[in-house]
Amino acid sequence: MSARGLHLTPDTAGGRMKGRIFDIQRFSIHDGPGIRTTVFLKGCPLRCLWCGNPESLTLEPLLSYMPDRCIACGECERACRFEAVSGGTAGATAAIDRKACTVCGECVPVCDPKALERVGRDATIGEVMALVERDRDYYASSGGGITLSGGDPVFQPDFAAALLEAARSARLHTCVQTSGHAPWGVLARLAPLTDLWLYDFKETDPVLHKRFVGESNETIVDNLRRLHGTGARILLRCPMIPGHNDRDAHLDGIAALARELPNLVGVELLPYYDLWRAKLPRLGLSTTFPETVKPPSRETMKAWNERLRRQAVKVQG
Ligand code: SF4
Ligand code: SF4
Repeated sequence: MSARGLHLTPDTAGGRMKGRIFDIQRFSIHDGPGIRTTVFLKGCPLRCLWCGNPESLTLEPLLSYMPDRCIACGECERACRFEAVSGGTAGATAAIDRKACTVCGECVPVCDPKALERVGRDATIGEVMALVERDRDYYASSGGGITLSGGDPVFQPDFAAALLEAARSARLHTCVQTSGHAPWGVLARLAPLTDLWLYDFKETDPVLHKRFVGESNETIVDNLRRLHGTGARILLRCPMIPGHNDRDAHLDGIAALARELPNLVGVELLPYYDLWRAKLPRLGLSTTFPETVKPPSRETMKAWNERLRRQAVKVQG
């Protein structure tokens, strides 16, 4: 694996090429036009403090455990060769020792109530496309298709390109949701295969950007300009995080960028949501992001959108 992501060897090319995914959601209506199937690829080059999909960040699978589903049958403790589960008997729910757990997944199939889940699996292009193609009629009637999301699809560029090629061969509309933080060559490779980019822009100030997501925004903005220069269709999607990037200066920075890129499909402000917090204990993860940060009200979102509209931005939503 390169520092930038996972590259696969040529002998895995074609429908048998494997990538690592953590979810496939059918009937998505927020990941591009129409009804879509969203394929979530694992791995991301950024570390946003408010990441809505913390299970996506690493390529490595994670063990998810939901104690409220545990019926204390003890099967997981018996199945685990690494002594990484204790309890799960005599009425006490199971407890996972995350340091000892190798995420081998052997406890998962023995857990009848599905309290345990291995998040992240390898899937072939053929396997993913077989699922995606089931809803072809819905795509046709709604103007939908397939969306690659994550994580970030640029983290597995070979798999993302092969999946987009397969979707193109199947005559499906393709969307890629990305932060754009990748070598330009990755985006240039995906561009001819992508009908619509859902391109994240999280912070105008490079110093704050680095503080919020772990990297400066210079590569992201540079790639955005280059992608726009290719004639790509791009929807700029901007998560709005109260107390972090909800400054007038950032909104005006978004407007300035949008004016500079006249062929943008538009700008969509995305309200922060905090449902991701509930995922952390299940995954054995923690955060220092303040719990006091709450989703913005509809009125606040409306005011932000109005500020952009006053600056001649094509606002969606
Ligand atoms: S197998 Fe599942 S239900 Fe049984 S003790 Fe383990 S986690 Fe609980
Ligand atoms: S994933 Fe493997 S190591 Fe971890 S608790 Fe389950 S059986 Fe044990």
